Amino acid sequence: MQRKSPQQHEKKFCSFCDYTGIIRNPYYEQTGEPAMTPCPKCVVPHCRCGGEAPYYYFDGGIKECFCRPIRMKIDLIEHIYRRSGIDKKYRWRFINEYKSRNKLGEAAKAAAYDIINKFPDVDKGLFLWGNPGTGKTFLSTIILTELITRNAVEGRYIKISRGFFNRLRSTFVESSETYGTSSAIEKEFAEVDVLVVDDFGTQRDSPWEQETLYNLVDARYEAEKFTIFTSNNNPFKSLTDIAGGRILSRIKEMCRIMEISGPDYRDTL
Ligand SMILES: [Zn+2]
Ligand SMILES: [Zn+2]
Repeated sequence: MQRKSPQQHEKKFCSFCDYTGIIRNPYYEQTGEPAMTPCPKCVVPHCRCGGEAPYYYFDGGIKECFCRPIRMKIDLIEHIYRRSGIDKKYRWRFINEYKSRNKLGEAAKAAAYDIINKFPDVDKGLFLWGNPGTGKTFLSTIILTELITRNAVEGRYIKISRGFFNRLRSTFVESSETYGTSSAIEKEFAEVDVLVVDDFGTQRDSPWEQETLYNLVDARYEAEKFTIFTSNNNPFKSLTDIAGGRILSRIKEMCRIMEISGPDYRDTL
């Protein structure tokens, strides 16, 4: 992973906003308010622009408002988040909302906290596997949301499905609108700072699909990019024979492999 010194608490912000200057509002959909706002305790009191873009004010000359870096950061995060690909029902959900049901879930949540607090100074991504309905997608999109909103890094969610491969396959069809863009799509997923790959590793994948997945995994491995995988299958069983075991050996190096199994979580989401 990229090495940067751990983020210092910025003294100009306060504990109410966890020293970020930004308050996140998980009820934004119900209330119609913005998902993120400048902290009302340490940013808004110093604001002299009234929150009007581009966040300057006039005082004998045009001056940059104290709130400007924070409002610009919020605009950037919202822009990144809109194109992250996270499904609507998982959007703007945070780590405090993940309720672990057993020891496996607790350990996965602890690993998630660790990643969220230390990013980008983390050694490994995560490979979460277990039976369906145990919150793997929920936890992985929570981590993605936390990393985007805290660090303003680019992040994407992809689900490995028929649709995903059909989208890629259509880029080879001359009459398709996306013709010729396969390398651009692959490059985007290979290079994005944080990637969640949901539903990885099913044995029905064709050789072409396996090769596509291997190339994605390999590109992220080479670029030392942070990746979270989820799977319904134990990778030590399901991935052993795929692509000659190459995918499994890459994933073992890239990720902390953790099992989350247990009762079905989906009804309570
Ligand atoms: Zn604050
Ligand atoms: Zn302002």
